[in-house]
Amino acid sequence: MPYCPSCGKEVAEDDEFCPKCRAPLKEPRLRPVRRRDEKDEKDERDEKDEKGEKHEGDQAGAIVGGLVVVWLGVSFALRNMGYFPWADMGGVFLLGLGVILILRGLWAYSKTGVLDQGFGYVVGGGFVALLGAAVVFQVNDWWPFFIIGLGAVIVLRALMAQSRNPRP
Ligand SMILES: [Zn+2]
Repeated sequence: MPYCPSCGKEVAEDDEFCPKCRAPLKEPRLRPVRRRDEKDEKDERDEKDEKGEKHEGDQAGAIVGGLVVVWLGVSFALRNMGYFPWADMGGVFLLGLGVILILRGLWAYSKTGVLDQGFGYVVGGGFVALLGAAVVFQVNDWWPFFIIGLGAVIVLRALMAQSRNPRP
């Protein structure tokens, strides 16, 4: 079967116009193309998509890196204004870092719709944020938070597995 040279839809041999986009098919300039040509076009598109995805990944990395630097500056500024003592500096930074990682994970999830894509970021960011919170709020025995986090991870994993393979 020939294909519309304009939109790539399959058309009948004797169609004068493409039924989908109305492009003329009978003019010599716009002769319907065969599958081989269409495949080449498609391959080109796939290649572009892959490049776009890679670019998006680079972009996300740059945004996260920039946010971390901004947050480092903000936490130093807040410290200089006397919002928290030097001892809490590391904790405040970790807390912000964790939040940034969680946001990165949620962003990846919203972009792809695949929970696994952002899961590592959310879990890692959650632990970093918990660690920072433990320092800032001077929770010396912060191991309960670890257990809470671990439990949350197990619950999330279970929910994900269920949404991937829904039971009848
Ligand atoms: Zn068409």
